[in-house]
Order: sequence, then C-alpha cells, then structure tokens
Amino acid sequence: MLNSEEVINLEKKFVMQTYNRQPIVISHGKGALVWDLDGKEYIDCFAGIAVNNIGHANPKVALALCYQAQNLIHTSNIYYTKEQAQLAHELTDISRHDRVFFANSGAEANEAAIKLARKFTGKSEIISTINSFHGRTLATVTATGSDKYSEPFKPLPQGFKHVPFGDIKALAEAISDDTAAVIIEAIQGEGGVILPPEGYLKDVESLCDQKDVLFILDEVQTGFGRTGEMFASDLYNIQPDMTTVAKALGGGYPIAALLANERISKGFEIGDHGTTFGGNPLGCAAAIASIEVLKDENLPAKAKELGDYFIDKLAEIADNHQAITQIRGIGLMIGIEIDGNGAEIVDKCREEGVLVNCTAENVIRLTPPLVINKEQIDKVVEVLDKVLS
Ligand SMILES: *Cc1c(COP(=O)(O)O)cnc(C)c1O
Repeated sequence: MLNSEEVINLEKKFVMQTYNRQPIVISHGKGALVWDLDGKEYIDCFAGIAVNNIGHANPKVALALCYQAQNLIHTSNIYYTKEQAQLAHELTDISRHDRVFFANSGAEANEAAIKLARKFTGKSEIISTINSFHGRTLATVTATGSDKYSEPFKPLPQGFKHVPFGDIKALAEAISDDTAAVIIEAIQGEGGVILPPEGYLKDVESLCDQKDVLFILDEVQTGFGRTGEMFASDLYNIQPDMTTVAKALGGGYPIAALLANERISKGFEIGDHGTTFGGNPLGCAAAIASIEVLKDENLPAKAKELGDYFIDKLAEIADNHQAITQIRGIGLMIGIEIDGNGAEIVDKCREEGVLVNCTAENVIRLTPPLVINKEQIDKVVEVLDKVLS
C-alpha cells in the first residue's frame, strides 16, 4: 500500500502540474469529516469546492450508485434511460424551469447555455461580470471575468463583454442590439463570496426582460441548498431564462445541467448539441438520491440556520482580530476577508484539523457540507480564533 509521501511523489511525477494542492492525501470521509491516509481527522469546510452538500459517503447515494453500477453505468444519449427521465422531471419540479440539458461539469453547462443563447436569439454577444467565474473551456474562461485565467489561451472566442458586478447602469449601457444574453453568478464564489447588492438580481431580470436579452443565472456553486434555499433564485425571488447547475447536483458524483424554460429550450433542435456522457445513468441515479436526501433532511433550511449560527460565532471572534476586515455570506457560503496572507491561514487551519480554502487571494471561504453540526462549527471557530492570534 502507498503511503502519503509515495502518493504525492507519484502525482508530482505523472500528473500535469495544474493544481496548487494541499500536502495531504484524502482517504475517506463521513458527513462533514474527512480523514487523510495517515488517519488524521479534519472538519471539511471546503467540501470539495462546495460539492459535498449532503456530506461525505452518504449511504443513500452510495447505495444508489452501487445498485446502478450493477445494472447500467453507461449507454449514451442514443437511447432513453429511466434514470435520466426521472432526474429531468425532478429538476423541473424543484426549479423554476421546464426542460433540462445534461452535461458533466459546470463549464459544460455554461458552454451549453451560451450556445443555446446564441442559437435561440441569433445574436452573438454575451455579457458577464468582472471578477466572475464560469469555467475553464474557451468560451466559459472568456466569460469568466479575470484575465489571469484566459490570458495565456488567446485568441479567445469573440463577442464577450464584462461589466462590474452589482452595477445595473453599467449593464444597461453594455447591452446592444447584438446582445444574446447576460450570464451572472447569483453570488460570486471564486471571486471571494461577493453577495449581490440589494435588488440587483431583480433589476437584472427586469432589464433583460425589457431589452429582450436572455438572463442566464450560474448556480453552479449556489445550487442545492447552499444559500439556505434550494436555489439562489428562490432566495432572491427571480426567474432567469436559464440556470446552470453542477457542483452539488450529484452528491459528489460529476453531473451537471442546463435548465431553461419551454420557449427557449426550443432553440436547441435535434443534432444542435450533445455529449457522450451527459446525463449518464450512474450520474442521474446519484443526483436523484442526492436531491432526495436534500429534501428529506431539510438541508436548505439547515444551511440557513447553521449559516446564521456560523456567522454569529465568527462575528464574536472578529473583534479580537484586526486581520479580519469583513465577514460576509449567506447560508453555508461564507467568506472571511483577511488583511494578510490567506494561504498561511489555510495551512495553519489544516494543521489544526480544519480544511478551509482561500479564494481571491485574501478571502477564507467556508463552504462545509450542509450536514455539519453546531459542535463542529464551534470547533472550526475555535481553530480560526487560535490561528488568527
Ligand atoms: C465551479 C464553477 C464553475 C465551473 O464548474 P466546473 O465543474 O469546474 O467546470 C462554473 N461556475 C461557477 C459559479 C463555479 O463555481
């Protein structure tokens, strides 16, 4: 059996070095906890980048995956499967949309949304926001509002514009006769947990309606209970024309979806778009089970309650630490803005048995599984208090 050092050495030798990894090998998890190969326990406030909303090793999802794997793992979209049809029904039931296109990642779901927007409207321009994150494919990395992700990959696809997040006037001015769609994250995640200003998303919705521009809401990170509602569109009471989801959809298993209303869905005709694995039976079975767990265990409501608790506890220690410049968030999507070195805090927390992540250079992001409990939150706050001292 390989030990941690051997695993890390193999990775360094054979895997393309595109990730700045933390120096631990994760072996297994349960609920909000994970263990490394050496048996050290961690409270996971990262959840695989806001993916493991229902917790690690959820027995219902594990069972659904085992059962499905014994029957049918893959067959392609050339045939029907009951798992895909059922999941599509379920997704339209819990969202404000009528139809689904299945993909395998957030970037692919956004790529599909951009293609559908152009196909449906016959227009080319896509407007997104500065500091946003929409994925790493060429179109989505171009929509992503930071040059650092796209600069080395020029020439980029044409027709993308960026405006400041939260600035409705700038958006109104940017819309032209050739604008197909606006794509916006409900809450900027990678950008540092930036909440939309009061009324902003509602204003985006009205503006898009008025100007006959499609409104694509990227809920890849905010979806499936993270913000205290099943979707952030419920939280902000908006009805986008399209919504993209991925991260938490499959309970950790990779699957993604583009959701749209009936009228816009018609923009895609047979042969217009496709993927070999999108909506494969294994991913669909995992997603059906995962949504069932979210609903049965009332996890969106728990995220709201625990998020309020978490933010209150953090506010209590904030007074002791000048390094904390702001605490913000909603539900279990929380950012602690630090005047200092975020990476160092991440390292120290890990040594103390808490996994967190630093995004936008100085924001400690907390996105734990929604099944985390108050004792675990207390422990995380205690560790942060110690580490910041
Ligand atoms: C993670 C993320 C993506 C990209 O998803 P991948 O599965 O990594 O391609 C897109 N949009 C948002 C808001 C994200 O957080």
